[in-house]
Amino acid sequence: MVKLPIYMDNHATTPVDPRVLDAMLPYFSQKFGNAASRNHSFGWEAEEAVDKARNQIASVINAKSKEIIFTSGATESDNLAIKGVVEFYKDKGNHIITCVTEHKAVLDSCRTLERNGKATVTYLPVDKYGMVDPDAVRAAITDKTVLITLMYANNEIGTIHPVPAIGRIAKEKGVVFHCDAVQAVGKIPVDVDRDGIDLLSMSAHKIYGPKGVGAIYVRSKGPRVRITPQMDGGGHERGMRSGTLNVTGIVGLGKACEIAQAEMAEETRRTLDLRNKLQAGIFERLDEVYLNGHPTERLPGNLNVSFAYVEGESLLMGISDIAVSSGSACTSATLEPSYVIRALGIDEELAHSSIRFGLGRFNTEDEVGFVTDRVTKEVQRLREMSPLYEMAREGVDLKSVQWKTE
Ligand SMILES: *Cc1c(COP(=O)(O)O)cnc(C)c1O
Repeated sequence: MVKLPIYMDNHATTPVDPRVLDAMLPYFSQKFGNAASRNHSFGWEAEEAVDKARNQIASVINAKSKEIIFTSGATESDNLAIKGVVEFYKDKGNHIITCVTEHKAVLDSCRTLERNGKATVTYLPVDKYGMVDPDAVRAAITDKTVLITLMYANNEIGTIHPVPAIGRIAKEKGVVFHCDAVQAVGKIPVDVDRDGIDLLSMSAHKIYGPKGVGAIYVRSKGPRVRITPQMDGGGHERGMRSGTLNVTGIVGLGKACEIAQAEMAEETRRTLDLRNKLQAGIFERLDEVYLNGHPTERLPGNLNVSFAYVEGESLLMGISDIAVSSGSACTSATLEPSYVIRALGIDEELAHSSIRFGLGRFNTEDEVGFVTDRVTKEVQRLREMSPLYEMAREGVDLKSVQWKTE
């Protein structure tokens, strides 16, 4: 029997791995020193823990430990990368290239710079699988381009961008390449050298670490990349991010990276197997279901599906003991379909019917069986009440129907 509720929303956040928690605990009250205290053992102990974490984090992305700067999370890392580059390189140019399916932390940082007249931004489209075309990146570069900011893997549809190809173009053109790699780090192999990444954002709570801590990788050589700090203060983190270090959180992020690196191959196999079982179960039992995102270039734990003739929100309500996400975001009073799903070019109805399943380290095969069952039954129940589904089944072409509006 499975224990309810079931958590299958691991792109939103993940539980702290018990091994991560164990590593963190001593740093709350026994080893509570300030890592910047240079004149006593409490400080040295904290600094040592931070150094160890920096090595663990650098290792998982093939960076050098001095290239890791700690932040409060990936939202801050994205802001620091984008605003920091635009400010530092303002004499060179002010043009940014990004894409329409980026996380809000990236899109809104770009929008703010645009609104304040500090940058012009090209928002590249994606193909029907949510992938950006490296040739489009190349074509968008001008002599004013100072930054390309593109994510590694998408948090809604799991699509993995052709990052190494984009990195090569950035290198060739001498443009700084920032990559929001929150969903990729620890899940698939990321290598800042192979991938040509100059700045990289990551977050602890997406990889079984604590919330409120993250890091940004800043390339030190080939070329050395500079950013203007966005936080003034004591000059911590080589002047790039002031503020007393969150030692406990940093220890957690370090441990999370160490575990992810050691277990990545095995975990990928396991998660992929669960994801494929879930996908196969749903697609075998239901008609008119559509996969969102790339069929193969996709995060192992991601499954995003549109269930035609079913409102995502209604489906979520009907399966309330299963934690997944719908492709609709409740913004103010209206229910807007996800901008990521919409960017794939699928119509509004299907966008509204999308559900994101995020499988992770602690999901089991029994849970996948239970979820497959519950979801398919609920979709069937909702469709039985849907006149549209009934008409479509009878062969009526719904697009040709003249609806009476009064
Ligand atoms: C979660 C997430 C973020 C934000 O990270 P926080 O640490 O929660 O601020 C940024 N980008 C992507 C792709 C994410 O999935």
